[in-house]
Amino acid sequence: MTTELARYAVSEATSRGRDYAEAEPSARSEFQRDRDRIIHSTAFRRLEYKTQVFVNHEGDLFRTRLTHSIEVAQITRTIARTLALNEDLAEAIALAHDLGHTPFGHAGQSALNDCMRPHGGFEHNLQSLRTVDTLETHYADFDGLNLMYETREGILKHCSRENAAQLGALGERFLTNRQPGLEAQLANLADEIAYNNHDIDDGLRSGLITLEQLAEVEVFAAQRRIVATKHPGLGGRRLIHETIRRMVNLMVLDLLEQTRANIAAHGVETLDDVHGAPRLVAYSDPLRPQLLELKRFLRDNLYHHYQVLRMTDKAKRIVKDLFAAFKADPRLLPPEYQLRARDDTARAIADYIAGMTDRYAMKEHRRLFAVGEIH
Ligand code: MG
Repeated sequence: MTTELARYAVSEATSRGRDYAEAEPSARSEFQRDRDRIIHSTAFRRLEYKTQVFVNHEGDLFRTRLTHSIEVAQITRTIARTLALNEDLAEAIALAHDLGHTPFGHAGQSALNDCMRPHGGFEHNLQSLRTVDTLETHYADFDGLNLMYETREGILKHCSRENAAQLGALGERFLTNRQPGLEAQLANLADEIAYNNHDIDDGLRSGLITLEQLAEVEVFAAQRRIVATKHPGLGGRRLIHETIRRMVNLMVLDLLEQTRANIAAHGVETLDDVHGAPRLVAYSDPLRPQLLELKRFLRDNLYHHYQVLRMTDKAKRIVKDLFAAFKADPRLLPPEYQLRARDDTARAIADYIAGMTDRYAMKEHRRLFAVGEIH
């Protein structure tokens, strides 16, 4: 940590620590160690081949879950440093926030949730926590990554009351309406800043949405007007990039200013004040409806574009077929998951499917269902 932490930041000194006691790290902070463990995890490497919006093989330039997570981390770090929050913690949460995502983006998650409904459901946030708590098995002394409490708290950004009740201390805040630290709140909104902007970029690149359509979205149109004034005649990719980078900047600065104002308005001085106050990391009142408008635009025109829906429809079928085949005969699972299946078959299947990359899921589907190929 280079700068001094604000009093309301999470610090090692006040941390609730790790479940399994370990010697202090040398040459790095405890939260840097968390970040490093996340980057060295198998689940992190898999993010490269998991869909954000576009399936991995559709084009080399679209965001994947990995490049998305890196963008979230970069935005999170900038804001954390400016507010004198714990930058290492904020970065660790951002890098880990999507580790539990299924193949094929939200389509995969909703299909798996449908399959798991009779067995306790499937939530990707909870799965991210499960990944770092139990599914990564590389360390001699413990299962999972044995991360700091506050990193785990940040990874679990949403949780149903039912699931929260089974999570002990970590689930408590969902039942008592307390807020996580500012680093966690921040990573959550940085996620939104990243995808709202890169989905416009990828959407335009794919040709599924157009600049003409975006003229009706105020937050985009306003920045585009500024670019047109500063750089008359600019077009193509440069125009798009100049507009989007200004949008990212606008959202980051708005968030910074509003968050500072909220911290002051609620008289927040300590970390305990943060837990007891309403959510402090937030956009300003004028920006919020504009971002809602942008989200609605992306939903109606990109996420629900017929070409995207065809892809997501197929993705759901792949996930459901895989689940049904393994459920009908768990002996089709690889040996390590058969072992897990002894305790809870459905959960072991969900773990196996959630861990798959897009292309692995497609390959596994071919192995199980392509009658022309038997091997
Ligand atoms: Mg995300």
